[in-house]
This record gives sequence, C-alpha cells and structure tokens, in this order.
Amino acid sequence: MLRPYQIDLLEKARVEYRNGAKSPCIVLPCGGGKSVIVAEMAKSATAKGNRVLFLVHRRELVEQIKHTFEWWGVDMNLCDVMMVQTASRHITQIKPPKLVITDENHHSKATTYRKIYDAFPDAKRIGVTATPIRLDGSGLSDVNDALVIGVSAKWLIEHKFLAPYDYYAPAIADLSGIKTSHGEFETGSMEKILMKSAIYGDVISHYKKLVDSKQAICYCVSVAHSKAVAEAFCNAGIKAVHIDGTTPKNERDSIISAFRDGGITILCNVDLISEGFDVPDCECAILLRPTKSLTLYIQQSMRCMRYKDNKRAIIIDHVGNYARFGLPDADREWSLQGRPKSEKSRTENEVKVLQCPECFYTFEPPDNDEKICPCCNYVFPKKSRNIEEKQDTELKKITSFLLDFSTPDDCKNMHDLQAYAKKRGYKSGWIYYQAKERGWL
Ligand SMILES: [Zn+2]
Repeated sequence: MLRPYQIDLLEKARVEYRNGAKSPCIVLPCGGGKSVIVAEMAKSATAKGNRVLFLVHRRELVEQIKHTFEWWGVDMNLCDVMMVQTASRHITQIKPPKLVITDENHHSKATTYRKIYDAFPDAKRIGVTATPIRLDGSGLSDVNDALVIGVSAKWLIEHKFLAPYDYYAPAIADLSGIKTSHGEFETGSMEKILMKSAIYGDVISHYKKLVDSKQAICYCVSVAHSKAVAEAFCNAGIKAVHIDGTTPKNERDSIISAFRDGGITILCNVDLISEGFDVPDCECAILLRPTKSLTLYIQQSMRCMRYKDNKRAIIIDHVGNYARFGLPDADREWSLQGRPKSEKSRTENEVKVLQCPECFYTFEPPDNDEKICPCCNYVFPKKSRNIEEKQDTELKKITSFLLDFSTPDDCKNMHDLQAYAKKRGYKSGWIYYQAKERGWL
C-alpha cells in the first residue's frame, strides 16, 4: 500500500501534468519508496491499456525492477524495463509507450535520454530521484520541466519511516593531496592515500570503539582498497568480505545470505548500491571513499537508515564527506537549474555542522549559545575573542581540505587563490601573477 505522503506526491505530479508539464521529476529521499511510487504509476497506466517504458541506468537493476513491478501488479505485457543505453541503441524496436519513466536520471548524459524522449514525442514522462543534480552541480532542466518535491529526509526520520542516526567523523588521513578528474576525486590518487597501512588500524579501532560487533557496510575507493580493508578487519578477528560486480553470482549470493544471517559482520565494496545489489539492511555505514558526488554520498550514508526495530543508524565518515555536503538529512533546496555556481565550493558558513573534538560526534548545532555534544556531553567553549580565533583556525583546517582546488583554474576569486597558494606554500607573487592574469587586479 502506498503511504499518505506517497499518494500526495502522485497527486502533485498529476497537478503538474494538468498545468501543462510534460516531464516532471519526482524528488524523494533514499528510503522514501521511490520504486513503489513509479510502480503505482506504471500499474495505473497499464491498467488503462497504456504501454510503459521504464529506463534504468544499470543492467543489474532491470531484473530487480521487474520483480518489484510484477509484485505490485503492473501488467508486464505492457511494460518494458530497459537500460537507457540499450534503449537508445534499439529505439526502432521499442513499441511506442504512452508513459516513459526514468529512474535516477541524473546519472547519464542528457543526450542519451533525449534521443529516446524525442523518438516518442507524444508520451508523457516522469523522472524520479533523490538528488536532482548532476556531478558538476547542474540541474535537470534539459530533461525535466518541473520538480515535484516530496517530504524531506528529516520528515521521514521524524515520522519513523527512516531511522534516526548518529554521525561520527574521525579523520584518518590528510586528504588534501587527492587529485580531481572530471569533477570527481581520482581513484589512483585516493588509493595512494587511503591504502597506507597505518590507516587500517584507525578504521578498526574506531569501529570497535563506536559500534563494536555491529554489522556494517564499508564503502571503499577501489576493489584493491576494498579487499585490503576486508583483510585488515579479518586480521583483527572481525569477519569481513569484499564483494563487487565481478564476484561470480553464486559466490555473491552466498555472501549476501551469510551477511543476512549475521555470519559476516563487515561487507566491503566500492559501488554496491548503484551496481544494483539487493543488500540486506544493516545499521552501520563506514565511509572510506571521499566523493564530490552528493548522490553517492547520500546513497552510501542513508542506506543504513531504513527503519528497523527502533535502532539508530550509525555512520562513521572517515573521509570528511559531511564537510563537503552537510549531514545526509540536511535540508537542501532543489531547483531545475541545479546549484548556483557560488555554492559549488561550499564554505563553513553553508555547512552548519559541528564536530565534537572529544568523540568525533558530528551534528547540526541548535541556534542557541550553549553548544553541547549530544553524544559525550562535551561543552563547546563559549565564544570569546581568543577562542573564536582558535575555532577559526580549526574550521580553516576543515575548509582547506574542502576547497580542494586541483588547479588554479578552480579558483573563482581572490580568496580562493589565497587559500590555494597557502595550501601549496606559494608566495604572494604567485597570487599577484595569477590574479593579474585573470583580470582581478
Ligand atoms: Zn562528544
């Protein structure tokens, strides 16, 4: 059965169509039940004898979606579930749909989708995602004409559809040297820093201290890294296994079922979720992959919040992802235009997050004077001039790794250039030269 907020969302989408939209996009947090919403749309379309085309971005998702749809009562004789790449290559073989549903349509280039949309100009369309934004921060205005915004992650937590969570962010390495390529951190460069053996000891000791013996999914930067993390856990006597898209199916099935039964404690992977694995829920996530993708951050951190038995989810962020994006359930304003350019490199003012220096608990502080760690009751010093300055340098430490400009071209203003120069130890002459070249002086 649909939940009331899901029914509202469908109604809002109908209103958009009535107001002339052809291609709205539904926005709902991870765990809010996007798949049943689209299943309901597909069901009512096929019940009227209308054909439906459902586009996904990964092959592994096709079977999963088909199962969900069948279970929900969609007439599968009238519904094609296809990978977007396949559909765009075989457009002429597709029976013209009346409704095109696109899952997670921020994943691929707009051109691939548009090719399909243009082939069926009379079809209504609907998109669905938790994060209507591409890696470069651009919005979906080139494929959608309205956003239908559902309830927030905070709302889902308050109403017990998602578990409340505790967020700890003990840093384990200096990540400032990680390079960026095509808008995302570069794998080789992440590996180099995160595969230093000293780090594994820290990962394990924090795990033991914070969540000992609880099941966790550990998100890594590469297969080699993931295997090394699993090995480190095993060496510490904690049963951990690595799994990825190339793991043979029977082996994969037995790993997943052992994890479900509790025979495996830690599941290490690189991109399990978007690879379409049907992973059993567990209450703890260990983030070991720094990312610039809000989508990836949200998917990896919120997976453990699927509400179960009143348990709190626990997220251990070792790579400062919270500092780039805020906490997973931070209120975010979406627009078809994406994030304004000025927001792309966030500053400490925008990410309103406080980290306890004693226990690494990370939280959104209330807007009053007294700031106390909800985890260990550490009292943050009141603002006095001296301390303010001290806190300032602390914050700067965070921002300097937030603003990880990989080239001077990433700098948008003088302040950026100064930060860049400072981080790399460049002299003021360098700033002068760079600023002059950009016409800022
Ligand atoms: Zn604390």
